[in-house]
Amino acid sequence: MNRNSALVVGGGAAGLQTAVDLASMGIDIYLIEKQPRLGGHTPLLHQVFPTIENAEELTKQLLQKFLNNPNIRILSYAQIESVTGSTGNFLVHVSKTARYVDEAKCTNCGECEKVCPVDVPKKFEMGLATRKAIHLPKPFAVPAKYLIDKDTCLHFKDKSCHACQDACPEGAVVYDQKLLREELSVSAIVLATGFCQYDAQKVGQYKHGVYPNVITGMEYERLCSLTGPTGGKILRIDNKERPKSVVFILCVGSRDEKHLHYCCNIGCLNALKHAYYLKKQYKEEVDAYICYTDIRAVTKQGEQFYQKVRASEVEFIHGQPSEVRQTLNGFLTLDVYDLATSKLLSITADLVVLETGFKPEVNLHEKLQLILDEDSFFTEKHPQLASNETTRNGIILAGAVLQPMHVHEALISGSAAAMKVLSCIRGSSTNH
Ligand SMILES: Cc1cc2nc3c(=O)[nH]c(=O)nc-3n(C[C@H](O)[C@H](O)[C@H](O)COP(=O)(O)OP(=O)(O)OC[C@H]3O[C@@H](n4cnc5c(N)ncnc54)[C@H](O)[C@@H]3O)c2cc1C
Ligand code: SF4
Ligand code: SF4
Repeated sequence: MNRNSALVVGGGAAGLQTAVDLASMGIDIYLIEKQPRLGGHTPLLHQVFPTIENAEELTKQLLQKFLNNPNIRILSYAQIESVTGSTGNFLVHVSKTARYVDEAKCTNCGECEKVCPVDVPKKFEMGLATRKAIHLPKPFAVPAKYLIDKDTCLHFKDKSCHACQDACPEGAVVYDQKLLREELSVSAIVLATGFCQYDAQKVGQYKHGVYPNVITGMEYERLCSLTGPTGGKILRIDNKERPKSVVFILCVGSRDEKHLHYCCNIGCLNALKHAYYLKKQYKEEVDAYICYTDIRAVTKQGEQFYQKVRASEVEFIHGQPSEVRQTLNGFLTLDVYDLATSKLLSITADLVVLETGFKPEVNLHEKLQLILDEDSFFTEKHPQLASNETTRNGIILAGAVLQPMHVHEALISGSAAAMKVLSCIRGSSTNH
């Protein structure tokens, strides 16, 4: 086996950083990403607080150091099946889901997509955009290779269509492509599997999934993004009209005994950023309200950004609305008691944005026999002295799977994990 090798699970900001750092030190890296594209959550965002940089550009810069690196092998659309062995000597079984398009042959010309008759609503785009059954996994299609969504393709339903195969000039469409299995030998494993959002529908009083104009912070990011369903125009979801009033509600599902106990660490700065996008687009033609529990803008430039947004005629209300109601003509109404002025306010809004909490993506704990704590985070080897190590030697954590964190923290955490892997590899080579 190759003792100078490591497996990174998760191709978000943290996993990419770990892989780049280790590859630059001569370690052979396998990077497994379960989705057909790399980047994780970051390239889905419009801009990144507090510097307000373009999120896709930021991810592209990170990837420049990564792609074509001879020490990194990317396995996208892949999953871990099982892991045996121990530090210095892990054996990992991986399966790669069929794309039904030969990655080596696909040139990303798009001829197949033009002839596909099936339109499918795009995940994350609130039903405002569709894609074809054969498609590039946008936004941020890295690797830039097409795939067929078997569940909606007519060929897989009843063999009634083979238009994409006929249209592909490279002969890349392969309907009988099989799932590929592979065995990897590695010295250490980094789990950079990130987070998932808390289900806003569980906070039933805000009616996400019931009223179309109640959306999550991530859905709002897509609405603001140039690659999103409206090309960056912030619009009502039901009638695509310009909103005149938008309410942002913080701590949805966070710091709440009935939901997640902990602070999401992102929602306050997110709401500030979201109100900033709105005011930048519509200026005084729109009313923006932020309903908060506390404002925690604790990063280096966070306070500065908070002061900037406060000065931009955004109304801050110290309290959480009891519920969201919808009038017959589709407007949303909210009552909220403002602790700062001791007044009960009644607000009418076109859009309500829920800044939801986050849960760690710990989908591998059973396969890896790792213990979770009461909030479903991985239990660390030691909360202070070894907070990015798991209870199994050689399995290291990076990024938002550790705790909710910002992009720059995920990158630092990715680098820290790389150093830990290096010491595992050096330790195991001196022991053999
Ligand atoms: C609405 C919203 C707005 C945000 N805005 C900002 C902002 O403005 N500024 C900022 O600093 N931060 C922001 N963040 C936070 C930012 O998205 C995170 O800091 C960043 O995504 C963390 O990167 P990560 O690599 O740790 O996790 P992720 O981005 O979640 O990446 C994890 C990757 O692991 C993959 N994965 C999971 N399980 C497996 C598995 N079993 N096998 C293989 N792959 C797997 C996932 O598919 C994913 O690609 C925002 C987050 C949200 C939700
Ligand atoms: S075979 Fe499937 S993916 Fe290809 S064009 Fe027909 S419906 Fe679309
Ligand atoms: S037509 Fe063929 S080569 Fe072109 S994007 Fe589609 S699968 Fe790839």
